[in-house]
Amino acid sequence: MQKGWNSMQVPFLDLKVQFASIRDEVMPAVAAVLDSQDCCNGVAVRELEKALAEYCGCAAAVGVSSGTDALLCSMMALGIGPGDEVITPTFTFFATAGCIWRAGAKPVFVDIQPDTLNLDPSKIGQAVTPRTKAIIPVHLYGQMADMAPIQAVAKKHGLFVIEDAAQSIGASQKGQKAGALGTVGCLSFYPTKNLGGVGDAGMIVTQDAQLAKTLAVFRNHGESSRYHHKHVGGNFRLDSIQAAALLVKLRHLDRWTAMRRSHATIYDEMLAGIDGLRTPVIGNGNFSIYNQYVVRTPRRDALKDYLARQGVGSGIYYPLCLHQQECFASLGGKAGDFPNAEAAAAEVLALPIYPELSDDQIRYVATKVREFLGE
Ligand SMILES: *Cc1c(COP(=O)(O)O)cnc(C)c1O
Repeated sequence: MQKGWNSMQVPFLDLKVQFASIRDEVMPAVAAVLDSQDCCNGVAVRELEKALAEYCGCAAAVGVSSGTDALLCSMMALGIGPGDEVITPTFTFFATAGCIWRAGAKPVFVDIQPDTLNLDPSKIGQAVTPRTKAIIPVHLYGQMADMAPIQAVAKKHGLFVIEDAAQSIGASQKGQKAGALGTVGCLSFYPTKNLGGVGDAGMIVTQDAQLAKTLAVFRNHGESSRYHHKHVGGNFRLDSIQAAALLVKLRHLDRWTAMRRSHATIYDEMLAGIDGLRTPVIGNGNFSIYNQYVVRTPRRDALKDYLARQGVGSGIYYPLCLHQQECFASLGGKAGDFPNAEAAAAEVLALPIYPELSDDQIRYVATKVREFLGE
């Protein structure tokens, strides 16, 4: 072991280092928007939509105000509302199910696979009822859910597939990008995502150019022509400043992804074969962009504390499943309903993986994890 490692600091995330590396590119792009005062849903937004449709291998893209609004706007435009049910994993970020609820529909939770921690396609069929309108698979931590069997169930029952790709921009499965397979794909540019804005932003991608037009109408209060409203939409518009910054960052995204993947390789090697520790399992044909690198151990909370004392930050995504959230109590979910998801919630710990970390920092973290587990 190298000298000095006993005092190394490894923050869980540091957005300032990345910004410093591209400051000279971002500032003039943002200044150009300010000079033009083309602030909402402007020219830069059109450019970003074009660039991201291409990046995701989709026919069209519609810029929106956040990943959450991408989900909500999609559901509104697809006519999902009161009386409808939408199937989604119970182990995901709150927004996935929160948007189903806000659209007026009922979230129907399904368990996850014990290895990839993504939606278990074999559990979807039994959750389908005559009221089911859509499935929302979530591409958690940077790798895609197993899409072929999900699409097969959707096709059999005539359901929409809304991909929650908020954590998985640029991830692919058998060569197809996240967001390109469903009815729509929802992206988030929240600053902690792999492609992060300088504030909130999001995007809906789709292969259906006609649907993209409808989504654009719902993004702007359902306004079909000025002050004429065929539908009730919302203000889901994307700020031009965000789009301008994101256009700059998009040029660096594949390089940043490669750095994350290289960190993951070091972790995989150094953390392999440790008793009581599981490293991420990447599904067949999946290319992960590692928004998070998540290990599992029954001693999760103690490991987190130990790492903190060694100067290492870590995160828990997510400590409580959605079927156990207080706000969804009326749905009747209880402990024991979804064993794989509940076990994951008790055991997952995300280690630092952002691109700008050095190999030495990654090795330091892995060494401390090994130390804690008595290796
Ligand atoms: C971040 C995230 C969202 C919401 O995106 P925001 O841009 O923060 O609104 C939705 N789903 C998942 C899985 C996410 O990680």
